[in-house]
Amino acid sequence: MPDEDRTTPATTPGTATAPLETAQAQLSSAVEILGYDEGLHQMLATPRREMNVAVPLRRDDGSIELFRGYRVQHNISRGPGKGGLRYSAGVDVDEVRALAMWMTWKCAVVDVPYGGAKGGVTIDPADYSTTELERVTRRYTSEIMPIIGPERDIMAPDIGTNEQTMAWVMDTYSVNMGYTVTAVTTGKPLTVGGSLGRATATSRGVVHAAAAALAEAGVRLDEVSAAVQGFGKVGSHAARFLHEAGTKVVAVSDEHGGIQSSDGLDVPALLAHVAEGGHVSDFEGGSPVSNSELLALDVDVLVPAAVEGVLDAETAARVKARWVVEGANGPTTTEGDRVLAERGIVVVPDILANAGGVIVSYFEWVQANQAYWWTEQEIAERLEQRMAASFNAVSTVSRREQITMRDAALIIGVRRVAEAHQIRGLYP
Ligand code: NAD
Repeated sequence: MPDEDRTTPATTPGTATAPLETAQAQLSSAVEILGYDEGLHQMLATPRREMNVAVPLRRDDGSIELFRGYRVQHNISRGPGKGGLRYSAGVDVDEVRALAMWMTWKCAVVDVPYGGAKGGVTIDPADYSTTELERVTRRYTSEIMPIIGPERDIMAPDIGTNEQTMAWVMDTYSVNMGYTVTAVTTGKPLTVGGSLGRATATSRGVVHAAAAALAEAGVRLDEVSAAVQGFGKVGSHAARFLHEAGTKVVAVSDEHGGIQSSDGLDVPALLAHVAEGGHVSDFEGGSPVSNSELLALDVDVLVPAAVEGVLDAETAARVKARWVVEGANGPTTTEGDRVLAERGIVVVPDILANAGGVIVSYFEWVQANQAYWWTEQEIAERLEQRMAASFNAVSTVSRREQITMRDAALIIGVRRVAEAHQIRGLYP
């Protein structure tokens, strides 16, 4: 295999279905099932509020560079906006709109009292120093100050951002307010009001969702093999928890390519290798596999945990897994979904499968508001309960209505948001 193949990114910019197209098509499908009129459809399809800002950076060498920044509040009918902040060179306002919409349905599906929001800055963090990233974060936060806050819109990490980013956002907001406001972000370090269990919550939730889906077919995690695409905050810990549950993790990848071993990878050793700054593809305990090949491996469970749009009609037709558990947001296009459904592959959709992160973010916000901290065990138990209850609700609707789990999750989420609109009424 030529080297180029091994490093092919999961999506090719410009050729993949745009995430907003996928998100809007999913909403249309739910609206059709629910029988809503066009006016309500438009209310649900349109972001309530958007901010588009310029983010100038003084680089370490004294030169100036300018980035675009966005914050989109898709819906705030059930509570404050909630959603991650993405740093990626290719992020644009439409991608942020799609991600914000998915956050709205996700918060409603797992019944946390939030709307949906998302932010993005057009920067590749790998190309900038820590001090530069701090300045970008602080300037972006200052620009969007008027629309964020613990009762307005609460940020969390996403692709390219982390606990440190959230600490800078929290500090910038707090300094401007004149007092400490820990609940303006979640996914913060423990020392400034973070929650135990938040850093790994999304991945834990993914594994709870996988276990629940398998259990419906009488299968356990220690009886299956899995492949995980993406080895960041979500994918790396999902691989670890699967490995700890006895699943044979046969392949993982990051943006530089992947590795596979039919005997199962030594996931803890791989985590240590990546923690020391290595890429997945230069780990020595496996043979190379491209991101595209990984999707088609002969495994039981496939966990896309990197970027949007990787499972389209063509790649979905090659999937051999029986279960796809979506760690990433929007990894499957509408066409990809149709192909997977036709082929009888069970898809545990993103708005359910990766909701563990927002569930524990909610716990972090509740703890910060009360200034009272829970134990790790309390958090783990409450996360598991909420994931199980949400999974069961979605699965019940899916069986009863004979629809996919994605449509079932969407109609639960969309209906809750629509009910909030209807009961609140239209002002004026
Ligand atoms: P991250 O930046 O920590 O990791 C992203 C991973 O994906 C990295 O390993 C990166 O190398 C890899 N990657 C990036 N581009 C790729 C490409 N084109 N092909 C293959 N791999 C690629 O981000 P994360 O927080 O782990 O987020 C991953 C996904 O999970 C995103 O869709 C995000 O929106 C979603 N998500 C994250 C959280 C959270 O709590 N962090 C919660 C819910 C959903």
